[in-house]
Amino acid sequence: MARVYNFSAGPAVLPEEVLKEAADEMLDYKGCGMSVMEMSHRSKMFQQIIDEAEQDIRDLMGIPDNYKVLFLQGGASQQFAAVPMNLKKNGKAAYIVTGQWAKKAAAEAEKYLEVQRVASSADKTFSYIPDCSDLDIDDDVDYVYICENNTIYGTKYHELPNTKGHTLVADVSSCFLSEPVDVSKYGVIYGGVQKNVGPAGVVIAIIREDLIPEEVDSTVPTMLQWKTQADAGSLYNTPPCYGIYICGKVFKWIKKMGGLDAMKKRNEEKAKILYDFLDNSKLFKGTVVPKDRSLMNVPFVTGDADLDAKFVAEAKAAGLENLKGHRTVGGMRASIYNAMPIEGVKALVEFMEKFEKENA
Ligand code: PLP
Repeated sequence: MARVYNFSAGPAVLPEEVLKEAADEMLDYKGCGMSVMEMSHRSKMFQQIIDEAEQDIRDLMGIPDNYKVLFLQGGASQQFAAVPMNLKKNGKAAYIVTGQWAKKAAAEAEKYLEVQRVASSADKTFSYIPDCSDLDIDDDVDYVYICENNTIYGTKYHELPNTKGHTLVADVSSCFLSEPVDVSKYGVIYGGVQKNVGPAGVVIAIIREDLIPEEVDSTVPTMLQWKTQADAGSLYNTPPCYGIYICGKVFKWIKKMGGLDAMKKRNEEKAKILYDFLDNSKLFKGTVVPKDRSLMNVPFVTGDADLDAKFVAEAKAAGLENLKGHRTVGGMRASIYNAMPIEGVKALVEFMEKFEKENA
């Protein structure tokens, strides 16, 4: 069966090369006679896999030496709790609410500390990023939290907020490795890998070492203390071995493609094709303020729910899958992560043109 163009927001399309290589190695990884899935996480071979993966992501993102790279589990959602649990000192944090995921993170944090919601774009269905140049942030907050790319609404911070010297924590689940990033501007960067980086089940957290506390409240579960995994090189317990192995392959694929500068260029090119079409269409309309548009998630509507449903169904029949918008917003959303080929975006736009002619 031919592969479809998969516009899922996550789990999402992965590079075909990576999948093929993994398939070739499925029964016998590098002559050891077993799959990585069957391998002890304490073996030399797996240690090499995780070490190489860490080195490759360090190279790609230019991660400074004073940052730890942790391969974790529990989804990005578990870090919604781990972040306040580990960073709590004064017991207060500032959250910028730009969508469901930031909202959920703030609600979770509120179980452990006082949350100040210093800005929000809820007034316009999260269709923009609020001005974060001069936020009213208390001096004693432990950190400022953002969701850098809002998967559901298709917005992205193209400029980081002015945290007024406070530690910046960012959930980058849906923009991980999609463009170059200056890691030194963040205290913590984390994300689930199931969009741009690998299969569901792995969370990567990049944490400045001085933010990993020696001691936390005694009620914090051992597995949620960053120090537990930082001291153990992400091997305190059995890690998601196969997922880490695939992430490692994706890192090598990105390196081969030319690194994050090349990824950005490729992603800009793809997104431009779709946004240019939306800006000129009489039927389809993008839902995001142009200056805050994401390169990764592109939501759009016709304005008629029945027509939207027809579009999604006909697109699926044409091999363009998973274009239905998030259940909380409706309409359509095309997620065009790193691994989506430019041909996929062109095929989508061609289909939209045809649909527009037939349904105008
Ligand atoms: N943060 C963002 C930006 C997301 O898009 C998602 C999931 O789509 C999550 C967090 C939740 O991730 P997980 O399902 O890994 O907990």
